[in-house]
Amino acid sequence: MTDAGADPEASRAEVRDGFCRWMHDHVDDLAPFRRERPVSLEEQLAEQRPLQRLLFDAGWTRLGWPVAHGGLGGSRLARAVVIDELAAAGYAVPELLGNTDIVGSMLVRFAPEIATEHLGPAIAGDEVWCQGFSEPDAGSDLASLRTRAVEDGDHFRITGQKTWSSDGHLATGCVLLARTGPVDSGHRGLTMFWLDMSTPGVTTRPIACVDGRAEVAEIWLDGAVVGRDRVVGDVGGGWRAVMYLMQFERGAYAWQRQADLRARLEELLAQRAPTPSPAAPGILGDAFLRYYALRAKCRGTLAALDAGCELGPEISVDKVMLGLAEQSVADAARSLMWPPFVTDDGDDAALARRRWAYSRITTIYGGSAEVQRDLIAERLLGLPRGR
Ligand SMILES: Cc1cc2nc3c(=O)[nH]c(=O)nc-3n(C[C@H](O)[C@H](O)[C@H](O)COP(=O)(O)OP(=O)(O)OC[C@H]3O[C@@H](n4cnc5c(N)ncnc54)[C@H](O)[C@@H]3O)c2cc1C
Repeated sequence: MTDAGADPEASRAEVRDGFCRWMHDHVDDLAPFRRERPVSLEEQLAEQRPLQRLLFDAGWTRLGWPVAHGGLGGSRLARAVVIDELAAAGYAVPELLGNTDIVGSMLVRFAPEIATEHLGPAIAGDEVWCQGFSEPDAGSDLASLRTRAVEDGDHFRITGQKTWSSDGHLATGCVLLARTGPVDSGHRGLTMFWLDMSTPGVTTRPIACVDGRAEVAEIWLDGAVVGRDRVVGDVGGGWRAVMYLMQFERGAYAWQRQADLRARLEELLAQRAPTPSPAAPGILGDAFLRYYALRAKCRGTLAALDAGCELGPEISVDKVMLGLAEQSVADAARSLMWPPFVTDDGDDAALARRRWAYSRITTIYGGSAEVQRDLIAERLLGLPRGR
């Protein structure tokens, strides 16, 4: 073991044992992070920041990231074990670790200098990142986006509007997709940039989601100047970078979510609802089935990503399974907590309501379920185009 506690050379079983021992030894330090509460996103990030720092300082969340970029080296599967055990022990996995995993994996590959500067601080909770891809008229059809980046000497001037950017109003940095090619250049004319969100000309406005929390934001760019050294990958290579990122958005992130879903299912089993709906046992059974199917699929995906595979349309299967599992678990909670689910003002009911509402969103972000199903049908199964 290193001084920090985490050992990149350890086997997964040793990481699991070592991390569980560490949690046991730090039970007092970890006590404030035992429960998720129905608070605003700002409060949640602020409450979770000290946990991110603790995990970082002990090395656990640096496992599987390259040493050159603030990590300890080793396998990303070791980091997955840590996330799994953290949730199983009843702690809320820090929200920001998910997006750091998604964006960080892409930066390490396409912009190693930027990863060296920013990855460590993001893992530690000192930076918040967002993804600026979608626009009001470019979501599923991302290649039609219109935000323009015009080359001007050693920098680019970016003008346009992004929307639905998770954590966008709180972010310090953004991976932003803009058009550097002609208007009709489609996916070939896109470039990805690393945008410092404090750049003059960048403004944000939060959007409240169906669960009542402002989790996403609009981002306006009015001639924001970004240096050429902030290009992620190649000029004109933005599509490649964003498709690479999607493997982690649709696949690796599902692992973090499944860890949370398992903890919620265990909680539900432990609860004794006063008058559960007669349909509740069946709904709970469905939720367990979907959860275990997701976990099994995700495990294979993580192993493939760890081995350096670039995954194609098969990653859409993970994304569809994640949406199904999220909604099944939230439906099971609603059934088992009925009627307090609708009548109670306490934290448990408020959190269950928020999670249920949020679960409806999970079939939209990262690419809608309908589009993922089309990708599976056409590109994985070779079926004829439906539309
Ligand atoms: C909570 C949340 C967080 C998000 N976070 C981010 C983020 O951080 N960064 C970011 O850039 N974006 C983010 N998004 C945006 C998300 O990626 C888009 O909402 C999503 O890709 C769908 O695009 P759209 O909203 O423009 O809907 P549209 O593309 O207009 O789709 C509308 C409906 O039509 C269906 N549809 C569209 N095209 C087809 C097709 N070809 N075949 C079948 N059905 C189709 C869709 O399934 C959907 O039901 C987030 C969205 C949400 C809800």
